Amino acid sequence: MAGFNKDIYIGLGSNLNQPHIQIKKALRALNNSRFIDLQDYSSYYITAPMGYDDQPYFINAVAKIQSKLKPLALLRLLQSIEARQYRKRTSNQNAPRTLDLDILIHGNLQCSTSKLTIPHPRMLERRFVLEPLLEIAPAVMIPGLGHVANYFPFVIQQQCQRSERILL
Ligand code: AMP
Repeated sequence: MAGFNKDIYIGLGSNLNQPHIQIKKALRALNNSRFIDLQDYSSYYITAPMGYDDQPYFINAVAKIQSKLKPLALLRLLQSIEARQYRKRTSNQNAPRTLDLDILIHGNLQCSTSKLTIPHPRMLERRFVLEPLLEIAPAVMIPGLGHVANYFPFVIQQQCQRSERILL
């Protein structure tokens, strides 16, 4: 599509209300949005919870999209998809959730405001982000930080298992 030229990577996660279905629904919502060109997406990954252990395992995935939306408008669109899937926000950052959508990388953009930090500030600490990202984009670079692959050895001890391919 004309004007859609930046590669944007979105992290998806869910651990409530049939997480596989939540992730599939979110990918379908991205695919059906006229503001988004869904280009690729990873397999499902089954991930042990981090931070707050007493909660169900997560399903995670990463999608590659292109979009003409400015980053904040894209964030709002992602939040509207979360809200449609009954995401409830609580003060606990690591609490269970039906759906979490994060902007991981947005072309070459580096920004840090009260609403949006890109690249996503915690992505390098998370195997459930780096592994699906490397699955769909093995040579991907993080603006200002270099190759994603260089960071993978530091998270390899985390529990995260590749599962089946997602069929939309
Ligand atoms: P979470 O609880 O992980 O969904 O956090 C959502 C909050 O993080 C939102 O209020 C966003 O304003 C903020 N945020 C900052 N940077 C990002 C990013 N790269 N992607 C998504 N949300 C972000």
